[in-house]
Amino acid sequence: MAQEDVFKKLVAHCKEYGFVFQSSEIYDGLGAVYDYGQYGVELKNNIKKYWWDSMVLLHENVVGIDSAIFMHPTIWKASGHVDAFNDPLIDNKDSKKRYRADVLIEELMAKYDAKIDKEVEKAAKRFGDSFNEAMFRETNPRVLENLKKKEEIHQRFVKALNDSNLEELRQIIIDNEVVCPISGTKNWTDVRQFNLMFSTEMGSTADGAMKIFLRPETAQGIFVNFLNVQKTGRMKIPFGIAQIGKAFRNEIVARQFIFRMREFEQMEMQFFVAPGEELEWFEKWKQVRIKWHKALGMGDHKYRFHDHDKLAHYANAATDIEYEMPFGFKEVEGIHSRTDFDLSQHQQHSGKKLMYFDPEKNESYVPYVIETSIGVDRMFLSIMSGAYCEEEVKGKDGESDTRVVLKLPPVLAPVKLAVLPLVKKDGLPELARSIIDDLKFDFNCQYDEKDSIGKRYRRQDAIGTPFCITIDHQSTQDNTVTIRYRDTMEQERVKIGDLSGIISQKVSMKELFKKLS
Ligand code: ATP
Repeated sequence: MAQEDVFKKLVAHCKEYGFVFQSSEIYDGLGAVYDYGQYGVELKNNIKKYWWDSMVLLHENVVGIDSAIFMHPTIWKASGHVDAFNDPLIDNKDSKKRYRADVLIEELMAKYDAKIDKEVEKAAKRFGDSFNEAMFRETNPRVLENLKKKEEIHQRFVKALNDSNLEELRQIIIDNEVVCPISGTKNWTDVRQFNLMFSTEMGSTADGAMKIFLRPETAQGIFVNFLNVQKTGRMKIPFGIAQIGKAFRNEIVARQFIFRMREFEQMEMQFFVAPGEELEWFEKWKQVRIKWHKALGMGDHKYRFHDHDKLAHYANAATDIEYEMPFGFKEVEGIHSRTDFDLSQHQQHSGKKLMYFDPEKNESYVPYVIETSIGVDRMFLSIMSGAYCEEEVKGKDGESDTRVVLKLPPVLAPVKLAVLPLVKKDGLPELARSIIDDLKFDFNCQYDEKDSIGKRYRRQDAIGTPFCITIDHQSTQDNTVTIRYRDTMEQERVKIGDLSGIISQKVSMKELFKKLS
C-alpha cells in the first residue's frame, strides 16, 4: 500500500476508534486543533508517564515542575520570541495557499534523496548478493548527479538561513521550479517573516489590560524557576528540571494531522551544567534519549539523528531525533545545547541574579543548558503510525480476511486486557466480572460480551489491546482461561491465578525502565 494511503487510513482509524477527533467537529472544526478520545487519552497518558518517570525516577538529579501557561510578557522579549520567533512564509498566488519556504526547500532536497534511494534499490535487485552498496553510491553517475544537485541546494539553503536572506530563499524555490501541489503553478509571492505567538489580554479594562502571550514552549517556565528549584531542592549542578505542558503556535502550514498543531503538548527537560561541560552532556543526553525511543521496540531503523543546518542564535549544538512517519523521516524530538543564553537574558531583563555558586570550583557562574524537547502529539503519531498494520488472516471457513491491528508497545496500549465470556449465561459473565474485579486495580481492563468471539477479538485488535482473556465452560470447572496474544493470535490455556503475573511481566514500565538503566 502507498504510504500516503497508509496515512489516510491511520487518520480515519484514529477517529473511528476514539483516539483523535477534530476539535469543534460539529461546528465544522477548527484548523490544526484536535481532541483526544477515550483511547487516545489513555495512550497519551501512558506516553507521558513513560517520559516523566524515565526522567524523574531514573535520574536522581532531575526533578519536575508544573509552571503556568500565562507568564510575564517580558519573558518573551528576553527569550527572543517577540523579535525572532518567526517562520518564513510564501504564498502561491493561484491557489492562495500558504507554505513555509524552508519546508518547501527541505522537501525538495528529500526528493533527491528519494531518487538516490530508488536507484540503489533497483541496483540491489539487479545485482543480488554481489551488490556493493557503498561502491554503487560512490560511483553511479545518476546517484552522483542527484547528490550534487541536492548538495548545491543544501549549501545555498544553509547560507540563506544563516544570513536571514528571504529573497534567496525565494530564489531557490524559483530556480528549482518548485510548484504548488494544489495549483501546480510556480507563481510565488515574496517570502515574509511571520511571528508564531498567540496573544491575548489579561485584566478587566481595555486601558489597564496587559498584552500577554500563550507560551510557544514550556522551556521558559523552567528557566524563570531555575533559582527557586535550585535553592528549595538544594540541587547541585549538574541537575535537570522536567516539565510537561501545553504550548501554542500559530503555525502557518497546519497539515499532516497531529504532526503540526496550533495547540500541542511538550515534554521538556532543561539540564543545567557548568560552562565548558555542555558538549559532553549534549552527547550524553543524545544517547539517553535515542535509547528511550528505541526501547519501545518499534524498530531501531525507524529512528535517526538529524543535525541542524542552521543553529539558533543561542545554540552551540543541536540535533533532532527523527522517526520514519508514513510521510518520511520527521522530527519528533529536539536536543539543543542552549549555552547560557536563556539564564543570561532573564538575568538582564529581570535585574535578578540567576547564578549558581559551585562549591567544588569555588566560583559563581551562569549555568549552561542542555535541552531535550519532545512533542507528546508527535510521539503519539509516531507510535500510532509504527503500530498500524493490515494483515491477511485466514477466517474460520478458510477464506482469507483482513484484520486491522495496532501493534502498540503493550506498555503504552490504552487497554491492557479484554475479558470475554464465550456466552452470556451459565455463570461465564459472572466469572469474567470477578476476574476484572481482581485485575482492575493494576490494569486498564475491558469487558465485552457482545457479538461473536471473532468480532470481539477484531475490536480489541483495532485498539491495540495486547491480551484477550476468553472464559468458557471449562473455566467454571477448573479455573483456567485462554489468553490470546494480539500480535501472534496464538492462544494458550492458563490458570486464572497466573493471569496477573503473565500480564504484568509484559506491560510493566519497570521492565522497560530496566532496559534504560
Ligand atoms: P518544526 O521544525 O517541525 O516546526 P521545531 O524545531 O520548531 O519543529 P521545537 O521548537 O524544537 O520544534 O519544539 C520541540 C518539539 O515540540 C518538536 O520536536 C515537536 O515534537 C514538538 N512540536 C513543535 N511544534 C509543534 C507543533 N506545531 N505541533 C506538534 N508538535 C510540535
